[in-house]
Amino acid sequence: MNHQQSEKLFAEARKTIPGGVNSPVRAFKSVGCNPIFISRAQGPYIYDADDNQYVDYVGSWGPMILGHCHPKVVEAIQQAAAGGASFGAPTEKEIVLAEMVCEAYPNIEKVRMVSSGTEATMSAIRLARGYTGRDKILKFDGCYHGHAYSLLVKAGSGLATFGVPTSPGVPADFAKHTLTAIYNDLEDAKAIIAANKGEVACIILEPIAGNMGCVAPRDGFLEGLRTLCDAEGIVLIIDEVMTGFRVAYGGAQERFGVRGDLVTLGKIIGGGLPVGAFGGKQEIMDYLSPDGGVYQAGTLSGNPLAMSAGITTLNLLKQDGFYDIIEEKSAYLSKGLSEAAANAGVPTSLQRVGGMFCTYFQAEEVFNFSDVKPETPEIFSRFFRSMLDSGINLAPSQYESGFMSAAHSTEDLDKTIEAAGKAFRSL
Ligand SMILES: *Cc1c(COP(=O)(O)O)cnc(C)c1O
Repeated sequence: MNHQQSEKLFAEARKTIPGGVNSPVRAFKSVGCNPIFISRAQGPYIYDADDNQYVDYVGSWGPMILGHCHPKVVEAIQQAAAGGASFGAPTEKEIVLAEMVCEAYPNIEKVRMVSSGTEATMSAIRLARGYTGRDKILKFDGCYHGHAYSLLVKAGSGLATFGVPTSPGVPADFAKHTLTAIYNDLEDAKAIIAANKGEVACIILEPIAGNMGCVAPRDGFLEGLRTLCDAEGIVLIIDEVMTGFRVAYGGAQERFGVRGDLVTLGKIIGGGLPVGAFGGKQEIMDYLSPDGGVYQAGTLSGNPLAMSAGITTLNLLKQDGFYDIIEEKSAYLSKGLSEAAANAGVPTSLQRVGGMFCTYFQAEEVFNFSDVKPETPEIFSRFFRSMLDSGINLAPSQYESGFMSAAHSTEDLDKTIEAAGKAFRSL
């Protein structure tokens, strides 16, 4: 496959953009090749600057659950743009989306819109600290919640990919308030909370860990954290930026029946435009400015284009049977990939929840970050390059999840399975 234009653009981009990209994982560093530059997308496909077509399982890292350029979403954005791109004043659309979010997540009584997932988690943590009057927070090793200071401590994907445990520029005085526990290990979390009794404001977690591949919560893990938080007066923040409206309309909380005190959302609720949101119990949300003292603001928050894309997307997801279709396609692909790996004699652990999936190149199932064997990312990088060459776009890291869209046809999935067979045999 010819990548001449992409190579040229990457060289050009590196002159004025750090590393040539505006978000590190896009640089393809962990898969040992240069990135492809995208020129357009349609349905399940993306096209690069050399006009190569790829079946896309990144979906802009999750938002494109309807496939790219759904005509209704495009129309909604165009209409909104014609009426004014931003006013910095309240609009009716914000109420519509807020009501849709509250309806989908019964534990969200009030919700505030922001412009990214990072802002959502950062603000939710500030609110939890303001509400409890405590400074410490607990997160899980391998979970990623955006790049706010308190959260760049043993985070997953990007950082793991680059082998940097914490980022320079994060003062030790900030990081010291962040405690980390092992994902899926309730006893570890309990022990840490006991050792910091009365000092922890919140526990934040991904209810399905999608930034270390795809790791489902073990039976009793979410329930145990809920009980622990209730007993200790700790705010449970369920970060559904990735899983919200992805694994069910009501997200992982609907799927597993465990509810957070605060919830963070992003990705899908913006229909591909920059959005985040955080919401939860009214009693906690009322601590937010202007009603309460915890400050949080945003010039472009509740942006009319983003609200329109979000509302239209959610209305389409609400249709009967939508998530059954995603489940079906995703199960079909997973089965095909597992069989192709087995036929080629390559040990894999294929892990999936709804339309999120990951192939680990090891036989042992992954339950937490350190379960990923050190040799698997290198095997993945060879697999990735072979798939890309066959016209299949996967996320460029072993520590990322794949995303299914409603636009993927059986033909696309079969093409993917065939390409995977070839890639597995070449390892
Ligand atoms: C993507 C993601 C974030 C960060 O969202 P951005 O919009 O990239 O800032 C936070 N939490 C989780 C679980 C995510 O997957």
